[in-house]
Amino acid sequence: MIKKYYLLSPGPAPVPESVLAAAAVPIIHHRTPEFSKIFMEVTEGLKTVFGTKEDVYVLTSSGSGAMETAVVNLLSPGDKALTINAGKFGERWGNICKAYGVAYKEIVVEWGADYTKDQLSAELRANPDVKAVFCQMSETSTGAVYDIKGFAEVVAPTNAVLVVDGISGMGVMPCPMDEWKVDVLLSGSQKSFMIPPGLAYIAFSPKAWKLVEVAKCSKFYFDAKKARKNLLDKTTPWTPAISLVIQQKKALDIILGMGLEQMYAHHRILGDATRAGVKALGLELLARNPGNILTAVKTPAGIEGGKIVKTMQGKYMAYIQGAQDPNKGKFFRIAHLGYMGGFDVITALVALEMTLTDLGYKLEPGASVKAAEPILRENWA
Ligand SMILES: *Cc1c(COP(=O)(O)O)cnc(C)c1O
Repeated sequence: MIKKYYLLSPGPAPVPESVLAAAAVPIIHHRTPEFSKIFMEVTEGLKTVFGTKEDVYVLTSSGSGAMETAVVNLLSPGDKALTINAGKFGERWGNICKAYGVAYKEIVVEWGADYTKDQLSAELRANPDVKAVFCQMSETSTGAVYDIKGFAEVVAPTNAVLVVDGISGMGVMPCPMDEWKVDVLLSGSQKSFMIPPGLAYIAFSPKAWKLVEVAKCSKFYFDAKKARKNLLDKTTPWTPAISLVIQQKKALDIILGMGLEQMYAHHRILGDATRAGVKALGLELLARNPGNILTAVKTPAGIEGGKIVKTMQGKYMAYIQGAQDPNKGKFFRIAHLGYMGGFDVITALVALEMTLTDLGYKLEPGASVKAAEPILRENWA
């Protein structure tokens, strides 16, 4: 059979054909009015997606670069931070703090479990010297989403700032930065921003800028003040990934042309259909509060977890992702974010059914589609 490649991973995610084609143009210089025009249109579009009046800075790096930018620009060595570690990406906050000598208290949350604003409130009362709280909107290693609006409600009245990693969550679910009083919001290009990997985005509230003014962590490339100064000249401190900026302009036209509310509704339908499909196969979700970014599914008893991913990828070329360490094999992750349509969910479910049947799991062929299809059809618009 001709085997087609199906990218069903929570980043990098698929890119629309028109956005891919937008990069196939001669390189323009970044210190020119032509580039500045596109660049400023991109930063304006990003402000809309971020729900902020503040400037959004475009960094040439993967998403983790924006995470590092947040830490080094807000804090000084010895400052105290609170990191919520509910999976691989929450753990990264702690690792970045460690690298820069920031004293951090790590709240370890079981993978897939919830963490509430009341728990955060109690933690902040017990640690009044905390300067920044670092969390994920969507913990991509587990599929769980967290109550960012609630977190912001409890952080806003304190001296601390709330830093939200929206790398996989933004564009899929709402996180209006100004309205919710999120202090630092950041994201990456390769998930729901619908372009290839290589750009990261970050915005700071006025409360966060006060910390930036006094933060002493070492930095050079990721200096927010340099980014702020250069944006006044409609440019970036360093050579940006010019082609990606051009692609982002095209992709923002698609995203904002559709409208953010429609983007969120679209992803809700894909999430509902995927969850209904896997449940119809007798499978269990990992996350207590699953988001519409991806669905993490527990490996059924009697099947070797690694084999599901290996078969889906190797035999069917359906690139779902497995679980990361230390939970390798215990669950697998089907993404439905960014440029994915309703039939991508069906592809994932059928490939999963065929894989599970290959591995000896008993199921009724088509059962997942039977559950997912009405959700797609009734909401198709
Ligand atoms: C993908 C992702 C990251 C890491 O981004 P890179 O682009 O790989 O550096 C961080 N946080 C979350 C929540 C993510 O989904």
